[in-house]
Amino acid sequence: MIEVVIVSSSLNFVLRLTPIVGAIALIWSFDALAQDEPRWTHPELKWNTIETEHFFVHFHEGAEQTGKLTAKIAEDIYKPITSLYGYEPNGKVHFIIIDYDDFSNGSAYYLDNKVEIWASAMDFELRGTHSWLRNVITHEYTHMISLGAARKITRHIPAAYVQWLGYEDEKRPDVLYGYPNRILSYPLPFTVMPPWFAEGVAQHQRPELEYDLWDSHRDMLLRTAVVENKMLTYSEMNAFGKNSIGSERVYNQGYSLSGYIARNYGEASLQQIAANMRSPMRFSFDSAIKKATGKSGGQIYDEWKKHLQEAYAQQLREIQAHTVTGELVQAKGSGNFYPRWSPDGSKLAYLSNAGADYLGQTALVLREGVGGKDKLIKAGVHYAFSWSPDGTQLAYSRKSEKNPHHSVVYDLYLYDIKNKKEKRLTHAARAHSPSWSPDGKTLACVLNGDGAQNIALYDIAANQLKIITSHKTQEQAYTPQWSPDGRQILYSYSQARGRSLRLYDVASGEITPVNLQHSTNGESSGGKPTDARDAVFSPDGQKIYFSWDVTGIFNIYSYDLATQQTAPLTNVVGGAFMPSANGNGELVFSTFVAEGYKIAHLKTPQPVPPEVTQYLPSPDRNIQLAAVNGDLAHLNLNGIKHGAYDDKQIPNFEVKPYNDHYSAISILPRVMMDYGTVKLAPPSIAIRIMICSCWWIMTSSACRCFSKPTIKCVTPAQMATIFFIIWRKSISARGAVGITSTIRSSVLFTAATMPRFRSSIAD
Ligand SMILES: [Zn+2]
Repeated sequence: MIEVVIVSSSLNFVLRLTPIVGAIALIWSFDALAQDEPRWTHPELKWNTIETEHFFVHFHEGAEQTGKLTAKIAEDIYKPITSLYGYEPNGKVHFIIIDYDDFSNGSAYYLDNKVEIWASAMDFELRGTHSWLRNVITHEYTHMISLGAARKITRHIPAAYVQWLGYEDEKRPDVLYGYPNRILSYPLPFTVMPPWFAEGVAQHQRPELEYDLWDSHRDMLLRTAVVENKMLTYSEMNAFGKNSIGSERVYNQGYSLSGYIARNYGEASLQQIAANMRSPMRFSFDSAIKKATGKSGGQIYDEWKKHLQEAYAQQLREIQAHTVTGELVQAKGSGNFYPRWSPDGSKLAYLSNAGADYLGQTALVLREGVGGKDKLIKAGVHYAFSWSPDGTQLAYSRKSEKNPHHSVVYDLYLYDIKNKKEKRLTHAARAHSPSWSPDGKTLACVLNGDGAQNIALYDIAANQLKIITSHKTQEQAYTPQWSPDGRQILYSYSQARGRSLRLYDVASGEITPVNLQHSTNGESSGGKPTDARDAVFSPDGQKIYFSWDVTGIFNIYSYDLATQQTAPLTNVVGGAFMPSANGNGELVFSTFVAEGYKIAHLKTPQPVPPEVTQYLPSPDRNIQLAAVNGDLAHLNLNGIKHGAYDDKQIPNFEVKPYNDHYSAISILPRVMMDYGTVKLAPPSIAIRIMICSCWWIMTSSACRCFSKPTIKCVTPAQMATIFFIIWRKSISARGAVGITSTIRSSVLFTAATMPRFRSSIAD
C-alpha cells in the first residue's frame, strides 16, 4: 500500500488557510494567539490585485493605499533580503493585506509562497515604534527566504513520517491479526530551524535598511532579564513560551543572539547556517552553526550571555548607584497599565492582566487610594481610558465582534461607577484610547484605518465622530489628552520611527510640536529619533508628564510649559511609562521589571540629576555590519534606506480585480514498517492516481507508485538503525527540532494514526 496524506490543496488564498502540518505559521506577535486573533473571513469584500516583478499583492476595498505601498516595499526589499541568504524563491510570493480588524500581525506560510499582513499599526507594549509596514513586510519576507534557503527538498513535501509497529506472536481469538504491542513514530521535517533563529534573523533583516531595529523596548526586555537573571536558556529559546513575556523573550533573545553571530562571526555566517541545514541528512541545527562558525550554538550562547552580563553591568554603572523607582503598589500580573488618578485624587483606576497570561488580556480595575482593595470594573478593556470630569464615570475602549460582518474592532464605552452599568457609544468605529474633555461633552480618541491612526472628537450628545488630523498610511497618533482648560489636546505622533509630542489647538486646529530638550546626554540617542509617549497634563495644566527614552531607558519626565525645561523624575533599570499626577503632586506610573509591567507610586517626585540617569554606550554600537558583509555594495539602496525613502509617494500600480490563486498540492508521505514490510499506503486508487499525477507534474519524472503497491526496500534492522540515529541526533542537538517539540510531534502523529492502528483489531 502507498499512503500519502494530502495536507494542503487547491485552497483559495483569500479564504484563510489553516497552517499545514509540518509548516510553521510564523506569527509576529504571539499575543495574537492568546485571545483576539480574528477568526472571520469577509466574502462581502471586493478584492483587487497588483502584480509586480516578484510579487502579487491582494487587498480588499478600503485598503488600497496599504496594498500599493506593500507592492513598493516588497520590491524595495527583494534584492537585499534574497542576497543576504543567496536564495531566490521559485515563483512569485503572494501578500494578502487585511484591514478589517484592529489587529497587528503578519504570518509567513512559507510552503505556500504566501504572506498575510494585517495593516493596522497597533501598539504592542514590548516593542518600540517603527514604520509598521516596512517592518512587518521585511520580517515575513525574511522568513520566506531564510526558511526557503534551509529547506532540504521541494516545498511540496513539507515532511515525512516513519512508523514501526510490532505485534505479539501469540494470536488472540478476538483479534484478527497479531495483537499490536509496540509503536514507534517519528516525523521528519524537511525544514528545520529553531524559533530563536527564525525569529532572530527576521528581526535582524538587513540592519542597514533600519526597517526593524534594536529599540529601547527590546533593550529593556533583555536588560531586565540579564540583570535579574531571568534569561531563557539556550534550550528554552527553542520553544515559544506560555505567556507574552516568555514568547517575546524567544524573539528578543533570538534577535540579540543572531545579531551577535552576525557581528562577531560575519553576517555571511547567517547564510551559511541556513545553507548547512539544506543538507538532507542534517537535522541538528547546532552542527549547522558549528560548521559555519567553528563553534557550537551552545558555546556561542555562553559567550554571548557573558558578553551581555559584562556590557550591561558597565552601561548601568551610574544608574544602579542612583536608582529612583518609586514603591511598587501592584506587583501581580505581567501587564499593569495606565494608572489614572480620579479627578479628586482619592481613587486610582488602572488596567491589569493579573491572573491571565497575555498582555492583551487586561481588565479595568478600580482601587480606593494607592494601597486600597481592587474592584473589577470591566474585562477586555485595552489601551488608555479616562475619568469623567466629575469622577462618576469611566470612558474606555474594548474590542467586540458584534459588528457588521463580525469585524473585531475597538469601540468606545462608558461605565457608570455607581450604577455599575456599561453603555456602548460607537459601533465598528475602530476607535480607542478616549480622553474626556473638561466640559464633559466630548471624547478625544484615536481612529484606526488603512494603515493610519488619526485623532478624532466624539460628541457624546450628538453621537458623532469628527476626524481632526489628516494622517495618511503609516502616520500614527497615540493617547490624546485634553488640557485642563479644554483648549488643547496633547498626543504622540509617529511617522516612521520613535514618537514625538504634539499639541492640537482646539479653536484654530493648529498643530505644534513640543520641543523637548535634554540637558546632558541628548546625544545618547545618537541623533536618532527618540520616543516620547504617554503624555498627560498636571492637574493645574502647567506641566506635562511623559515617558521618554532619550537616554536609551524609558523614564518619567516633566516638561514645564512656561520655562520649557525638562527634568527626569525616575531613574530605573527597566522602564517607566504612563504617568499620572494628582493635585498633591503624587505620581503613579507603570514600571517594567523582568516579570512585566507593575504599578509604582512616587509620593513626592523630585528632579533627578540628569548625569546619574546616563545609560553608558553599548559596546555593540560601533560595529558596522555592512563592512563585514560587503554584498550590499553591489546593490543600489538609494531611496530605500531608512531616512531616504518617502512612503507618502506611492507608485501608481495597475490594479486588477482579484482572480482566485491556489497554493500547490503538498503531500506528506508516511513510511510504515508493519509485519516486517515497508508500506507506503494510499487510502484509495483514486487518491493514488491524483498524487502520482501531481508527483509527475512536480518532478517531471515518471512515477512508479502506480505499479508497485508494496515496496520492500529496507530491512527491519536497517529501519531501527535509521530511527535510532535520527532520534539521537535530535536529542543531542540543542538547536535542532527541540526535544519538547519532537515528542509533541511524535504524540500528535501517533494520535493521528491511532484509528488505523485500532482498525487492525476485530471484535
Ligand atoms: Zn516571525
